[in-house]
Amino acid sequence: MNAEILTVGTELLLGNILNTNAQYIAKRLADMGIGVYYQSVIGDNPERLFKAFELGFKRADIVIATGGLGPTKDDLTKEIAAKVTGKELILDDKALEMIEKHFESLSRIMTENNKKQAYLPKGAKIFYNYKGTAPGCAIETGEKIIILLPGPPREMIDMFERSVIPYLSQFQDGVLSSKILKVCGVGESKVEELLGDLLDSQTNPTIALYAKLGEVSIRITAKAKTEEEANLLIHPIEDKIREILGDNIYGEGNQSLEDVVADLLIKHGKTISVAESCTGGLLAARLINYPGISSVFKEGLVAYSNEAKMKRLKVNELTLNKYGAVSKETAVEMARGIAVTAGTDIGISTTGIAGPGGGSSEKPVGLVYAGLFIEGELYSIKLNFKGDRQEIRERTVMSVLDWFRRYLIKTNS
Ligand code: AMP
Ligand code: MG
Repeated sequence: MNAEILTVGTELLLGNILNTNAQYIAKRLADMGIGVYYQSVIGDNPERLFKAFELGFKRADIVIATGGLGPTKDDLTKEIAAKVTGKELILDDKALEMIEKHFESLSRIMTENNKKQAYLPKGAKIFYNYKGTAPGCAIETGEKIIILLPGPPREMIDMFERSVIPYLSQFQDGVLSSKILKVCGVGESKVEELLGDLLDSQTNPTIALYAKLGEVSIRITAKAKTEEEANLLIHPIEDKIREILGDNIYGEGNQSLEDVVADLLIKHGKTISVAESCTGGLLAARLINYPGISSVFKEGLVAYSNEAKMKRLKVNELTLNKYGAVSKETAVEMARGIAVTAGTDIGISTTGIAGPGGGSSEKPVGLVYAGLFIEGELYSIKLNFKGDRQEIRERTVMSVLDWFRRYLIKTNS
């Protein structure tokens, strides 16, 4: 079985927005073992849209379209799909009720044109929208299938995960089961090198790597008759990967690095505060992503200027003059300063040159120091990053959290 992806919207053709829907759907279809040979982008134009559906039917078993399900006149995807398949559009009471409720919950008045969204091709399998208004659907012609999904990525992703994957899995023999392992501290190419033969020799399960800023996800996917059988295929491969990568694997599934760090802190009952210069609050924000962090996280301070570092964190003026703000010495004094003033067991600091200006040959853009004060001991780490200002700051946060995670594992095992 193979699919073609049509993303609809003149704004995509003009380059006004990035086509993230196509990327998302392509990736999820690949995970399911459904081939994608063509993707097309079409403007909000009825003739060209019609032709695109016709062409899609010639080339693929399933045509998946996103966008153009909105209430306005230029949203035509559903009307054209109905025309291509010879179906009439009829009112779906449940869809209408959900749209009305959606407006009610936002205390907004529903306009008449929103009703248009509750009309769906006769006989279609309807995918209700739990994040917005436009429902999606699957139109079956006997030979081919059209799947229509809303344009806004938040709505599209929710519908895809909730309804489209179960719908498509009925056409597949067997089930697919996946396990995700999350890695930090080694880059994608190093992970690839370390896993070596394991990556190449696997067909069931398959192993795929996905790199994101500062981390790599490893997805192990197995196909079998039942989920239990698929999981039995996954386990030995997971064990091998864990043996090779060890502590570089920080978590699994949708766990984030801050989840893992927060869990460790809470488990060991250690309180923490952070003092940030170059990361400007990003480190505190990441930790506070974790619900329940309040039992251990006490304070976060952005001490950007030298004056603030001295006044708020008691960093010694001599240290700043002799070693500079971006130095190991300043980093550890910042970490101790925040832990002492906040009265916490642990203090963490960041200080670095995020760029684009301010670098020198001795201290280039991307040079960052982090400090850790813990139970009277001081530690520091020197980091070097490439990239723009935002990237350097985000990579700093990932690396500092990972450094701290490794410290907590080592000292508490
Ligand atoms: P539409 O359903 O065509 O009215 O699209 C609504 C909004 O969804 C657009 O204004 C975009 O912000 C977003 N959107 C539509 N198609 C895509 C796409 N392929 N990738 C990312 N965002 C999209
Ligand atoms: Mg549109």
